[in-house]
Amino acid sequence: MKSLPRALALAVLASAAAAAPPASKYNPRETFAPLDLAPAVNRYRSGDGTPGPDYWQNRADYTINARLDPASHSITGTVRIGYTNNSPGALDVLWLHLEQNLYTPESRGTLSQGGRPGSPPIPRGFTQGMILDSVEVTVGGVTTAVKPLVSDTRAQIRLPVPLAPASQAQVDIRYHYTVPKEPWGGRTGWMDSQNGPIYSIAQWYPRMAVYDDLRGWDTLPYLQQEFYLEYGDFDYSVTVPGNYIVAGSGELANASEVLPPLQQQRLAAARQSDKTIMIRDVNEVNSPSTRPTHSGTLTWHFKMNNTRDVAFGASKAYVWDAARINLPGGKKSLAMSVYPVESAGNDAWGRATEYLKKSTEYFSEKWFVYPYPVAVNEAGTAGGMEYPGIVFDGITDKGKELYLVTAHEIGHNWFPMIVGSNERRYAFMDEGFNTFIDIYAHDAFNNGEFGKKRDSEYAPGGGNPADEIIPTILDPDVPAIITAADAVPEKYRHPIEYFKPAFGLVLLREQILGNDRFDYAFRNYVHKWAFKHPQPDDFFRSMDNGAGEDLSWFWKGWFYNNLALDLELVGAEYEKNDPKQGLKVTVMNLEAMAMPFTVEVTMKDGGKQRLQVPVEAWLQNKIIIFTVPTTQEVSRVVIDPDNALPDINRGNNGFVFK
Ligand SMILES: [Zn+2]
Repeated sequence: MKSLPRALALAVLASAAAAAPPASKYNPRETFAPLDLAPAVNRYRSGDGTPGPDYWQNRADYTINARLDPASHSITGTVRIGYTNNSPGALDVLWLHLEQNLYTPESRGTLSQGGRPGSPPIPRGFTQGMILDSVEVTVGGVTTAVKPLVSDTRAQIRLPVPLAPASQAQVDIRYHYTVPKEPWGGRTGWMDSQNGPIYSIAQWYPRMAVYDDLRGWDTLPYLQQEFYLEYGDFDYSVTVPGNYIVAGSGELANASEVLPPLQQQRLAAARQSDKTIMIRDVNEVNSPSTRPTHSGTLTWHFKMNNTRDVAFGASKAYVWDAARINLPGGKKSLAMSVYPVESAGNDAWGRATEYLKKSTEYFSEKWFVYPYPVAVNEAGTAGGMEYPGIVFDGITDKGKELYLVTAHEIGHNWFPMIVGSNERRYAFMDEGFNTFIDIYAHDAFNNGEFGKKRDSEYAPGGGNPADEIIPTILDPDVPAIITAADAVPEKYRHPIEYFKPAFGLVLLREQILGNDRFDYAFRNYVHKWAFKHPQPDDFFRSMDNGAGEDLSWFWKGWFYNNLALDLELVGAEYEKNDPKQGLKVTVMNLEAMAMPFTVEVTMKDGGKQRLQVPVEAWLQNKIIIFTVPTTQEVSRVVIDPDNALPDINRGNNGFVFK
């Protein structure tokens, strides 16, 4: 074929476009093509999205003794890991995460982040990472010194003899590392405050990687995109200077050794109080009477059961307050905040414990009862990071900002601390699900004191999420939600890991399934997978089964792809030209996404009538015609009258009768 001169070719195309009816990109066979959920169903994971009859996961119990030395900003510790192999096969090796190795100049995280468009510049202040001083492993009663293979943020331990199914290995490690200084630490680190340094300590001991039925060892390196960890019981002790306060995950086991009697009494009072009680107030921070000793060190001992991790904050600069958390079934927990004097005040951290308490109570009521004895909010360097039983929030946060970050970070105790998904691979099961539950927590907090959840994570322009998601859907460079977390460019992190999945669940709840069906299915998913390791397919199957719908078209269009939706109201006319016989409405689908939708008809007398059109209407057709059973003259017809759907062109949704 001969090619036309370019100008002519363009002219031909332009006239063809002008003459043709609006082109539809919708293809029902693509939109409704079968979705093969992988992996295949087996004895470990069931077709209904629940753990199968032979579901297993391995277990890691930890005993940690660590010393925090503020003079050198270092942690020196020993950890004993009791690792139980519940898998059906023998293990030749064990893998550990050493996430502190991110902070070395040559780490994969250091070298890969700088090259990602939209990434912030690499902060400096490298450390040597986590140094393993000695490693011993005990299998079958025989203890052997081993030299692990360290590869970036992972370490492989080759076992002297394989670890048989249903047996246990003990790993004993001596280690040390230098705590990174803000801002390089990101999720962990230290910073200066008026009355001394504040430490937010996490990823602070060698942690077992997950060995599961899907991949065996999940050894993705830490490039700074969160975690996937085994559950177990933790017994940990932190030795600090005598004038330090330690606020950690779990229950403080030796309050009488580390707190003077007055603070013990105040803590006891806080356990009975819905109002925040000061344990150490602003005026007491530098007062010697608030510590039992002023020389030497003290060891703070904590215990936490059935958790995937523990973290802690430490400082001599802390103001400390607490209040009771009331849980369903008469259970109680304790909300506590620690922060420096410069963060105090009712417009700032003075309300942190109230925010923490109310959020924990709300999520417990709505989805799953908070399982831990304490919830801590620490003001520090991380500016918004979650661990089981403790969150690190921004030291300068105030008012609404502090509320929303507190609700979000403690919300992570449901995803992924209780429902232990793989955050490093599937950010939407972490950030997206948490953002979704936060939306309704905002509505409920103090009768809507801070209004609707609108922030950098969800509808950042402050408007209708259904409108604000559209630029993300139309951007051809946007990755799909299912994309691996490390492959998502920074500028798309909030839109794709938080906003789109959260709004997707809102669509499911409010437009597709209805609140009751959605809540039943979602709660069922949370309960079935609490303290376990669900994968995306387990979630999709769970929701299909809980709701009793095949939602493949939605998972495929919204989570696996970025399909756009454009419904056009093509026309409306009376049946047989008689207003008494109903209104015949024609709607065309112009894009690849399908959705159920509402059509609203306004009568000449102002009355309104609505009809819900199911998604099945799109199974075979690009254009659908249906009758709204009206009996009088009509003044207006509109599809999606509440602007609830992410319809990329609302200009073609309405029709006014003359
Ligand atoms: Zn988050």
